[in-house]
Amino acid sequence: MSSFLRPDLAEFAAYSAHGPEASGASPEIIDSLDTNECPYDLPEDLKAKLAWMYQQEIAANRYPDGGHGALKGAIAPYVNESAALPADTVSADHISVGNGSDELIRSLLIATCTGRAGAILVASPTFSMYGILAQTLGIPVVTVPRDPDTFAVDTVQAQVVIAQSAVPVRVVFMVHPNSPTANPLTPQELDWLRQLPPEVLVVVDEAYFEFSQHTTVADVPQRDNWVVTRTFSKAFRLAAHRVGYAIAPPALTQVLEKVRLPYNLPSFSQAAALVALRGRLQLLSVIPEILAQRQRLYDALTQHPDLTVWPSAANFLYVRATAPDTATLFQRLYQLGTHVRHTGGGLRITIGTPEENDRTLAHIADILG
Ligand SMILES: *Cc1c(COP(=O)(O)O)cnc(C)c1O
Repeated sequence: MSSFLRPDLAEFAAYSAHGPEASGASPEIIDSLDTNECPYDLPEDLKAKLAWMYQQEIAANRYPDGGHGALKGAIAPYVNESAALPADTVSADHISVGNGSDELIRSLLIATCTGRAGAILVASPTFSMYGILAQTLGIPVVTVPRDPDTFAVDTVQAQVVIAQSAVPVRVVFMVHPNSPTANPLTPQELDWLRQLPPEVLVVVDEAYFEFSQHTTVADVPQRDNWVVTRTFSKAFRLAAHRVGYAIAPPALTQVLEKVRLPYNLPSFSQAAALVALRGRLQLLSVIPEILAQRQRLYDALTQHPDLTVWPSAANFLYVRATAPDTATLFQRLYQLGTHVRHTGGGLRITIGTPEENDRTLAHIADILG
């Protein structure tokens, strides 16, 4: 390790969206059910619209709109609509746009915790990016467990940790519904989050909102310490374009704007997000099918006595196996071409197209015998 590098960075692995890969056969059909994208590409007419915008409206030699004015102006009404809030409850002043919601997570960390100013709290298992991004910034990560059966957060333990942490906890990150375990925040968990003191920022990651319809956006205008993050990478089918947004009190939004890179979102990605928002009824019209497919997979998998399957409020299922064990099931599925995520001691399986889901079920049935 070069002597100019921070020694702590030698100790942890870079993020890999696909996790560890299994070795073995290379089947003809690969189903990518490990990153929770929508299984359908952007429809042809929206792609054509976007191509037209690139030809007619985007000057490739010019920097993007660094203030994201048009995009923020389109996101704010969608947020109000999505949470059934009166128009103008959330305005462009509450919105910050990032290169994926990952960038916003990093901006939130920079704004709150760098320079040993604070630690973050997460409930494991959860989205790994909070911990990874915190570590790259030298920010301590405090972890509390979840109930092994319901995956509810141990809020008693969280309270103790917040009271005792040597570096004060400044941010609590919660995914709603959680990844990989697919459970939404319970009323008790929400009560606990809402009574946290003003010096602790609550970040509710609603990456799967369009599937769950659970949102805490109404808390943002009511509380100074509440942020919701969302993404265009899942239900809006724009993972290739890296667009995320935060809904935050304007005072915090202003700081997020200060700490980000100046031209953080390419013109083409801003255009794609605008096209997706305008076409949202068309894009989101496949969600009922995905939820019906989720139910079909859930019903079929719960028939296997060697599997535990948890209810899901998102576009994926969380599964653990006993015979063979979870790690072996993961390896065997991988060899058959069904790529899922092995994380937190279970398998996170994205709901795909009906054909992909047929193969998932057939492969699992083959392996379990
Ligand atoms: C997929 C996902 C995101 C999206 O991240 P982007 O950087 O916007 O692609 C955010 N949070 C969670 C929990 C996710 O699963």
